[in-house]
Amino acid sequence: MQNWMALFEEIHGCTRCPLCEARIHAVPGEGNPFAELMLIGEGPGAEEDRQGRPFVGASGELLTKYLHAIGIERTEVYIANIVKCRPPGNRTPTPAEAEACLPYLRRQFVLIRPKIIMLLGGTAAKFTLGGDIRIRRDHGNWIERKGTLFMVTFHPSALLRDGSQKKLAWQDFTTVRDKLKELRGA
Ligand code: URA
Repeated sequence: MQNWMALFEEIHGCTRCPLCEARIHAVPGEGNPFAELMLIGEGPGAEEDRQGRPFVGASGELLTKYLHAIGIERTEVYIANIVKCRPPGNRTPTPAEAEACLPYLRRQFVLIRPKIIMLLGGTAAKFTLGGDIRIRRDHGNWIERKGTLFMVTFHPSALLRDGSQKKLAWQDFTTVRDKLKELRGA
């Protein structure tokens, strides 16, 4: 737990990029430090900035529903973001902001060592996996990197804007559920 406390302290005091200037709270992430499943979003929105917790606004509500529907509670997984501070107006984080913040996410990954990582939306996919990942084309497929399974899927706020993708996202979540069962040998 020492490592987690040091990490959180660093994030709360972080000034590595200009996003620190407008934040109310840094949002390190939350959940089970022994999670088999980790979910990574883009960055905190207004409500997350106010509360200091990830995915607690409208898109968080939808994410929580998807998890619940595959029999998983938020407390069982770990939820984090590419950047820990809110980009003004919810704009996409710049590559420089993401690069400044990614060492925190890497440390979270090393502490948790999840079996599966779901990348929510294009920004999470781009800064985690690199390369040419397109959500519409690549969602639902397993990508293996050094023994960890990654899946890209739609960002919940994209689903709130365009409900026509909800069915596809649901399939992705059920694929994750089935893989977790398989990995547990159930
Ligand atoms: N969108 C994200 O990408 N992350 C959050 O924590 C909230 C909304």
